[in-house]
Amino acid sequence: MFRKILIANRGEIAVRIMRTCQEMQIKTVAIYTEVDSHSLHVQLADEAVKCVSGTGYLAIDWIIQTALEMGAQAIHPGYGFLAENPVFAAKIQEAGLVFIGPDAQTMALMGDKAKARETMVSYGFPVVPGGTGVVTSDEETLQMARKLGYPVLIKAVAGGGGRGMRLALQEDQLLQSLESARSEANSCFGNQDVYLEKYLVGCRHVEMQILADNYGQVVTLGERDCSIQRRHQKLIEESPSPALTPELRARMSEVSHDAAEAVRYRGVGTLEFLLDQDYNFYFMEMNTRIQVEHTVTELVCGLDLIKEQIRIAAGEPLGYDQSDIRLTGWAMECRINAEDPVTFMPSPGKIEYYRPPGGFGVRVDSAAYSGYTVSPYYDSLISKLVVYGQTRVDVLTRMQRALAEFSIRGVKTTIPFHQRILADQDFQRGEFTTDFIQQKLDSDV
Ligand code: ADP
Repeated sequence: MFRKILIANRGEIAVRIMRTCQEMQIKTVAIYTEVDSHSLHVQLADEAVKCVSGTGYLAIDWIIQTALEMGAQAIHPGYGFLAENPVFAAKIQEAGLVFIGPDAQTMALMGDKAKARETMVSYGFPVVPGGTGVVTSDEETLQMARKLGYPVLIKAVAGGGGRGMRLALQEDQLLQSLESARSEANSCFGNQDVYLEKYLVGCRHVEMQILADNYGQVVTLGERDCSIQRRHQKLIEESPSPALTPELRARMSEVSHDAAEAVRYRGVGTLEFLLDQDYNFYFMEMNTRIQVEHTVTELVCGLDLIKEQIRIAAGEPLGYDQSDIRLTGWAMECRINAEDPVTFMPSPGKIEYYRPPGGFGVRVDSAAYSGYTVSPYYDSLISKLVVYGQTRVDVLTRMQRALAEFSIRGVKTTIPFHQRILADQDFQRGEFTTDFIQQKLDSDV
């Protein structure tokens, strides 16, 4: 097992990883930028190194050099930043260190959404109807969109976090949407390649968590329903999904298992699907990293996914198979962001007072504390409020209780927004699709 790991991230996920490392008796090295000097991940790490490079958590060579100098054997990328960058993974390996994640080739394959689609098609797995490959000209885009039928979605091959994605409801919007998808993709990801998908209306986002070791053992850990989204970004996630029957879950698990096996996947991974109203499911993309919402899976399966990720990276076999996996109870996560709860404008600044909820079945993953300043330079997630119960009804009442108990002063937060959703009768009945927020609230948000 590793003796020391460098954590190439910040915020709640860096803290989350450190907690597991401590339990595994692995020393941690934090890296941080000037604005993060007082961050919790710096305080909780065994050692911390300040980044002098302007690129901060994206400074590939500096991060690897620091890991070597500090005597770490492995680097955990968390999510975001370099977590899905195959160049980073390859360079770590070249330096004789271990990247905690899949190998660079698999990341390159699955990280390119168009290639991932084609790979899934080649194995006969169901994918969202769409074009094959990247579109190269306006003419080709027009023809492909006509063939698919409107509305169509233009998606960046390198896209993530809902960026590089544009909807075209009809033909006269297509070329403008193409242009704006390309330019956003270029500025966010340095890659302007895009492809087309049919836009499926009234779907759920259901994703399957998988774990795979170096020796061909793959297990699936059930699904997460992430349909509560704003502008294609997840806000509430739960496991199991209120929409899945045991038969459908078994079929989606099987496809996910087989897909992971087909690409010889290693580590933790997520296959994202869209589920239409007729309960057909279509592969959308694969995330080759730990996800923000991994917490809800941990609560229903009882495994520490970061620990599993580290064990797999260290070359340990899983040591269990699918028949050992027991999914019990219900879990839900609300992402608490430092944002205005109505306009969703970021609300950075000093948290004057922070008192998280507690009690039975409540987990809070956060890097916030009283006196902490939320930086405008990074994402606005301040806390993940995760609750567990035997049934969905238990979870709904517990989440409402926990949201009411959560006290954060000094910055605006999305707690009131979550309270509105939790009080909604359709949400309570488990009846919602990815356009829920747009329909329920205001089309502007
Ligand atoms: P990103 O990687 O940027 O998060 P995804 O491909 O995961 O992008 O899509 C994010 C969200 O956008 C999905 O959860 C879903 O709500 C919506 N979406 C993506 N593709 C489609 C589609 N073809 N039809 C309808 N909605 C879609």
